[in-house]
Amino acid sequence: MFIGGRLSVVTLKSERGSAVDALVEEILGRAHKAGRKELAAWRRPQRELRELARLDYVRVMRRTLDYHTLRAIIRETRKIWPEFNREVFRPKSLNQLAAISSDLRIHLQATPYRGPEGMALRGFYVDKTRKMLKHPLIFLNTAHHPGAVSATFVHEIGHHVTARVTGGAGDAAHYFFYGGHRNHLGHPVELAADVIASLTAYPAPLARKMFAMPWDWGLVARADQLPDKAFAQIRKHVRELLGINFGASLPTGQSLNYLTGMIHYAKLRWALLAEYEL
Ligand SMILES: [Zn+2]
Repeated sequence: MFIGGRLSVVTLKSERGSAVDALVEEILGRAHKAGRKELAAWRRPQRELRELARLDYVRVMRRTLDYHTLRAIIRETRKIWPEFNREVFRPKSLNQLAAISSDLRIHLQATPYRGPEGMALRGFYVDKTRKMLKHPLIFLNTAHHPGAVSATFVHEIGHHVTARVTGGAGDAAHYFFYGGHRNHLGHPVELAADVIASLTAYPAPLARKMFAMPWDWGLVARADQLPDKAFAQIRKHVRELLGINFGASLPTGQSLNYLTGMIHYAKLRWALLAEYEL
């Protein structure tokens, strides 16, 4: 539901919403001239966002990802990037991404693809097992914020690595759309690619600082609602690393989707630490 202006202040006071809720209100509050169509379009990302913010990612991970495959994927990623899960992977220019791709014999195609429908696509990966392709292909939609483009690139590289471990990504192209984060939860191949993206943004030394929650030392690990303090640190980290600030410079729909991505990758990282001590 859209809540604007004065009403939102009242809601926050009476319900004592989380820091996530407060940021959603802030993003929506900036959209003064929103029409009925926009409001309807934002309802879905808002639902997805709130759902992911509550969900226990430890349970999701246990269900979707096999621990031994996960370890193998990490070993494989270290062959490409020895500092994986030890240092932060900083966003690169398109030329640098092209150089990395070329070293891996991946064909990189980067094109801005605008408009509401164009923006729904973040990127995709196609393995060379497709008859038409000599080399694997990564497509990046560069109409997105450069920080988001960089995150998409790492996700698509994640497919490349996973395909090496599991013996092929299959014939299907792996599209990464808006709303994709939620869909990834039930797909081992997609969640594995997200794990790689998550570990590049939050390597182990940083994750231990940010996600060490007192209750993780109990018998049952969980990663459900991020405490406000952790959320504030994550937001600061994403601002410094990717330059994404959820400020007025980003369109509302885009802000909501990037915020969902931020929560998704952070909670995935938290779950990896809490459940597997990675
Ligand atoms: Zn994917």
